[in-house]
Amino acid sequence: MSPRRLDSYRRKRDFRRTPEPRGGRRRASAPRFVIQKHAATSLHYDFRLEVGGVLRSWAVPKGPSTDPREKRLAMPTEDHPVEYADFEGVIPKGEYGAGTVIVWDRGTYRTIPGDDGEDAAAALDRGHLKVRLEGEKLRGGYALTRTGGNGRERWLLVKIDDDDADRRRNPVSTRPKSVVTGRTLEEVAAEEGA
Ligand code: MN
Repeated sequence: MSPRRLDSYRRKRDFRRTPEPRGGRRRASAPRFVIQKHAATSLHYDFRLEVGGVLRSWAVPKGPSTDPREKRLAMPTEDHPVEYADFEGVIPKGEYGAGTVIVWDRGTYRTIPGDDGEDAAAALDRGHLKVRLEGEKLRGGYALTRTGGNGRERWLLVKIDDDDADRRRNPVSTRPKSVVTGRTLEEVAAEEGA
């Protein structure tokens, strides 16, 4: 990985004050994904994919859907270190992203190859990536697509219509807890908050 990829992440944080990881470790296993539920200024879900030694990241205000008809806005955010996939806790008041984080879902993914067999990094450069998730709550294909428009870059996260698509189930509301500790945001805030 290029160490530069984490510059923005580190610049925004004071690691003497926040319990978040500084990053720098390498991984060799299947690429991971994580979705962290983050009660910051506003509640959102951080969708992160391990690509090129970092977690490429998008903030999804409504969270992912299992319904292929639902297009979910995904705002790109700075790359995070791979260790961040294990982070659950409270970012102190006054720090960047202050608020409570739980690991809402995680697992591994593989890219669904396009005709030209490009890798995930190249697909993201091009603005369209399809992945197959193997998580605890989310499974199957998802497409991430950069959309046009002036101003800030935005993407859409949409469930691909496959065997794992589900138009009725909504895990964002029916399965709110951490897949790591079984805790809700409120329980983490109460146990680890200042
Ligand atoms: Mn966030």
